[in-house]
Parts: sequence; C-alpha cells; structure tokens
Amino acid sequence: MDTTAVDEVVGLCRDLLRIDTTNTGDPRTTVGERVAAEYVASRLEEVGVETTLLESAPTRTNLVARIPGADPSRGALLVHGHLDVVPADPSEWSVHPFSGEEKDGYLWGRGAVDMKDFDAMVLAVVREWKRVGYTPPRDIVLAYTADEEAGMEYGSQWLVRNHAGLFDGVTEAIGEVGGYSYTVNDDLRLYLVQTAEKGLDWLRLHAHGRPGHGSFIHDDNAVTALAEAVARVGRHRFPTVVTPTVRQFLEQVSDALQIDLDPDEPELAISKLGPIANLIGATIRNTANPTRLEAGYKDNVIPGKASATIDCRTLPGHADSFLAELRDIIGPDVEIEHVHQQSAVETSFDGDLVDAMGAALRAEDPGARTVPYLMSGGTDAKAFATLGIRCFGFAPLRLPPDLNFSALFHGIDERVPTEGLKFGVRVLDRLLRNS
Ligand SMILES: [Zn+2]
Repeated sequence: MDTTAVDEVVGLCRDLLRIDTTNTGDPRTTVGERVAAEYVASRLEEVGVETTLLESAPTRTNLVARIPGADPSRGALLVHGHLDVVPADPSEWSVHPFSGEEKDGYLWGRGAVDMKDFDAMVLAVVREWKRVGYTPPRDIVLAYTADEEAGMEYGSQWLVRNHAGLFDGVTEAIGEVGGYSYTVNDDLRLYLVQTAEKGLDWLRLHAHGRPGHGSFIHDDNAVTALAEAVARVGRHRFPTVVTPTVRQFLEQVSDALQIDLDPDEPELAISKLGPIANLIGATIRNTANPTRLEAGYKDNVIPGKASATIDCRTLPGHADSFLAELRDIIGPDVEIEHVHQQSAVETSFDGDLVDAMGAALRAEDPGARTVPYLMSGGTDAKAFATLGIRCFGFAPLRLPPDLNFSALFHGIDERVPTEGLKFGVRVLDRLLRNS
C-alpha cells in the first residue's frame, strides 16, 4: 500500500524541526532557510513537483511551486508557510529546541506550531496527491518563505515586489494563524479562522532642543521634551473600535457559548471570554507602545536631540485617524518619522472557500464550528494581500482541551500534538480537494 499523508506528516515535521532556521533579525546570524527550502524542494521533486528556489540574499531562500488544477480558468489558491523560526535558548527548554523529539504524544521543537507543522502538512498532502495521480480542482500555488519572523523583507515582501508573476491568477490564500480548536465542551469546539490583521507602524519620535552644559539652568532640553511625549503616548488608552471582523467574532462566539457578548461593549464582552481573551484583547483598539529610547553621550552634556521608537498597531481602516490622534498626544514640537509600515488587512468571512473550511473541519470533528477573528500581530498575509489576494489564517489543528496553545507561539517548549498534525492533514486534504 502507498504511504499516505497521515503516515508521513510527523516524520516530515520532525525533519523540518531538526533544521535550525533561527531568524535573529540580523542577516549575519540568521541561519538555515536555504537548507530548509532545499529540503522542501527535494521532497516535492521526489514526487514530480517542479519547484523554484528564489534567494533575496545569500541563504535567504524562498520556494514557490505551482500544481496545475483541473480547471485553469478558475482563480488559483495560494497555500503558504514560512520556514524561519524565532530564536530558542536550549537552557530554558526541557528538550533541545532543534532535536525534533517525540514524547508524550507531542513533537517538540522551535517551530512546532509556528509554523513547521503546517509546512509539513502541506508537503504531506501534495506528496500523496502526486503518488496517486490526483489533480486538484484549481491551481494550487505553494510558497515557503524566509524571514517572516523579522519583517518579511527577505521573504514574502521581496517575493511580491520582485516575482509577483509567480502569483498570477491567485485569488485566495491560506496560511497562519488560525484553524485550531478551542474546546468549549465535549460537543463543541470553536476553530478560529483569521480573516484580518492589524497594521503596523513603527515610528521614531525626534525631539530637538538647545545643547548645553549640565550644570546650567536650561529650559529647552530635548530629553525632557521627548520624555514627556513618550510618557503621554505610553499612558494613553486609545478608544475601542469594533471592526466588522471583531463584531462577527463576538456575535458568533456569543451564540456558540450561549453567553451575552454585546459587540457595543467590547471590553466587557472580552472579559467574559477566558483564555481566548488573550488572543483578541488587543484587537478592539489601536495601540502605541514605546519600545526604545536614545539620547545623550555624556553625563554632564545636555544633548541637542533625543529620539524614541513607538510600536504602533492599527485596526483595519483606522491608520489615518490613529495618526491624527497620536499627533495630538505628541504635540507639535516632536517630529514623527515612519520607520516601517505595513497596512492592516481584512477580508470578509464568506464564500465557497470559507464554507469548505467549515465542511472539512466538521467531517473530521462533528463538534467543529468556525469563527472569524482579527489578529493583533502580522504574517506573510500582509504581503500577499497587496496582490489583491483574500488571505485566511487556516492551518488546521485539533488540540487537547487543556493545552495553552497561544503560549506556545514563540514560547518555551513549543510542541505540537502528533494526533493534531494527522487531523490537520486530513482536514487540509479535504479542504484543498473541495476548494
Ligand atoms: Zn509564524
């Protein structure tokens, strides 16, 4: 009998976990993306899938492949995953983070849920299709990217800027972060599907003053002006805004849990949500958190300038109103520089693909119910959405009820249940065959 995707997925995931693809954010110390991309390429080429490796810089390798579908006139579906992971300190872990160890029903390692699990599921499904000669209903484009964990400049952002042609005809995409279960009771599990992401705006504030001697009376000090502005920003609470995705989320969760969640009282509603509250607490308002300060060069010299970095995250459709509000808080004398910006993305939770997600989950878990949500962080979807692609976070996993899943992302002892991986493969296979 042929090896199936379910048979293979754990081994493929283990292989990927054993390739250290730590992305430190510094290209000089970031490793392994080329090794991982070559591994994926070899597993795909072994079954006859042609792949293209694209390097944005030495070893910053991305992989793209297209699997022709039965009806080329239909829009293609992009299935994407990143290969890099955030750093892991072995001294903090109970297993080595790059050992790919299997124990207690879990596969352990940095990237186990973010997101070599999905990388392996996709690989397993496509390999099975090729072995049995299956053709999907429409073109499937696979993308394995570098650099998702450090701004995507060497990965998806670079791909869409320099090789947009590879994504010709793609109308929809699935990738991280979503599709995993939150157990309500024995008969009901919510599967959160990401349909929106907050935008990102890293700002540098510059205050200017009169340089001088630290022993004098001085009324134009750049450090003081900057500190005042930073403190005002850091203490400010932006008003709550309920975007269409959050409204739908609250309405559907309210219905599923049979509790009253009034979308017009979002803070109260979220406070009733227990563990899910973590995930969506930051999605009902814009945020601005000071993260860095820089000023001065000597203890007795008042510097002429001082700067600070503010990490701002904006709701879909609210970037401009946010900036106007922030300008007011900061005041006219401190200059604002935009260091790095990525727009928010949002798509509606409807259509054939969304229906197919629900159907694929219910076929494997009769207690499954899909719910859309807005994510406060960012993923490769931000880059792909610039091509007009509707992006969904759907990397299916059925999780044990007591697992604190969100803590595993970038966390210590990151691990994925092996049964969850097999479940994910079955759901993904059904979804892709019916999309
Ligand atoms: Zn990720």
